[in-house]
Amino acid sequence: MSLSKARRSAEPVALCDLGFEASFVRELPGDPLLHNVSRAVRDACYTRVNPTPVASPRLLGWADAVGEMLGIARPDSATGPASEVLAGNRVLPGMAPYAARYGGHQFGVWAGQLGDGRAITLAEIVAPDGARYDLQLKGAGRTPYARTADGRAVLRSSVREFMCSEAMYHLGVPTTRALSLVGTGETVIRDMFYDGNPEPEPGAIVCRVAPSFVRFGNFEILAAHDELDTLKRLADYVIVTHFPELGAPSPATYARWFEEICRRTALMVAEWTRVGFVHGVMNTDNMSVLGLTIDYGPYGWLEGFDPMWTPNTTDAQGRRYRYGAQPQIAQWNLARFAGALLPLIEKAALEEGLAVYRDTFERESSRMTAEKLGLAALDRNGDEQLLGDMFEVLQRVETDMTLFFRLLAAVPVDGAADTADDTALIEPLRRAFYTEEAFEPAHSASLADCLRRYVARVRQDGSPASERIARMNRANPKYVLRNYLAQLAIDALAAGDASVMERLMMVLQRPYDEQPGHDDLAERRPEWARNRPGCSALSCSS
Ligand code: AMP
Ligand code: MG
Repeated sequence: MSLSKARRSAEPVALCDLGFEASFVRELPGDPLLHNVSRAVRDACYTRVNPTPVASPRLLGWADAVGEMLGIARPDSATGPASEVLAGNRVLPGMAPYAARYGGHQFGVWAGQLGDGRAITLAEIVAPDGARYDLQLKGAGRTPYARTADGRAVLRSSVREFMCSEAMYHLGVPTTRALSLVGTGETVIRDMFYDGNPEPEPGAIVCRVAPSFVRFGNFEILAAHDELDTLKRLADYVIVTHFPELGAPSPATYARWFEEICRRTALMVAEWTRVGFVHGVMNTDNMSVLGLTIDYGPYGWLEGFDPMWTPNTTDAQGRRYRYGAQPQIAQWNLARFAGALLPLIEKAALEEGLAVYRDTFERESSRMTAEKLGLAALDRNGDEQLLGDMFEVLQRVETDMTLFFRLLAAVPVDGAADTADDTALIEPLRRAFYTEEAFEPAHSASLADCLRRYVARVRQDGSPASERIARMNRANPKYVLRNYLAQLAIDALAAGDASVMERLMMVLQRPYDEQPGHDDLAERRPEWARNRPGCSALSCSS
């Protein structure tokens, strides 16, 4: 297996002039059948399939940061060759488009073959820094894995994926990226509320970018069908291509590899916890073996701090994928993945990997929580109690998680804290409260009690105020992609105005900076948005 590592010049190149590679297709067994009809595929990692052209592609969004990372010049017009490629209307020489075969556990149950039903990986490219990336179109038409679905994606879900990939990256959360958003000029029929009223909606295609889109489910499907030679070949390919630092594939390398995936997954979920992100559909087919956040669907950010919250209305009953359950669910998913790797890795080593997951998550989330609070570590007597009490108080009266932590840095810790009464002490947090109830004595007294203990703890730490506040501001974003903000961008774009999306994306590139003039993007969710579709909760319809 040889992969070119040659660097390109940093000078951006037009998409159509890039060189492309296809190591996944070259190195791994593919489906010998090429006809594009829904079917069960056997003993293969992918099926070669071309995108289905759309009526009139139009470039609606371009992520400059991703273009720069890949050394691709921003297309100079909304229509033209680049938009045609990014819509799947034109396949360039060197590209070898395919849909990946994978299975998965959905909502706790083995679901059998899933696969890329509407995502088509076009090619791999080597960025100017030598790193390798897949370009993948989501919504590019049916594949043999589409089952009864149409292979397409609607504008609203595409805008959400496009914006959130980039917002997460700039927050410092491991994630797949998104290069472009293209309108197809076609409509897609969706029953957005699952209430028997399907409606035509504008269609769109996102070009996603990641070193790899391989999921736990790519391995699970091979193990489920006892395709053990292919399972080993896929593991070897992923290790050689994406984990070369672990050494040549061997039983010991496989064990280290699983452990590394456990470590990365723990880090990813700890970061989600830190920024208040809820993925919404943590099925094993939506878990990346690179530890990247993948498949942005009915995700959301906590507004009121509530560990029981999920944005996914499809999961409203069981709340399996609620904010507070994400750490355990990731571990459950890793255990399913481990089950698929049993032919390669001893059970004891897999169990060690899962222990690494637990330890890493504990350590990282404790470190991040300490940073959010501006403390060096959460290692003193009483820290756990304080934290538990604080989270409990936050849930009693609806309090915005993002704003609470951002504003916590403004609570006085000097002499002013000793003389302030309860109301005065909690006043700097006012913008975080969704209701005036926060100032009623029963609540202000318990919150003020937590804050006084917090102030005492900060003094114990003794780090200079400016240092502490800077540290807190690096852990507590001011700007996150609140669902209602995404919906405002979608509504404007659907009406032909890209400016709302562009402004949001620009501000979300520096989520930890104050950015005066954009404070309106860092407010509580307004009341009109509380129950409006798309603004708080969402269905899986996409
Ligand atoms: P998701 O819930 O988006 O992660 O998708 C779960 C599975 O359904 C994956 O195999 C997707 O490829 C497939 N899928 C979702 N929507 C569509 C669609 N419109 N057309 C074809 N396949 C789809
Ligand atoms: Mg998925």
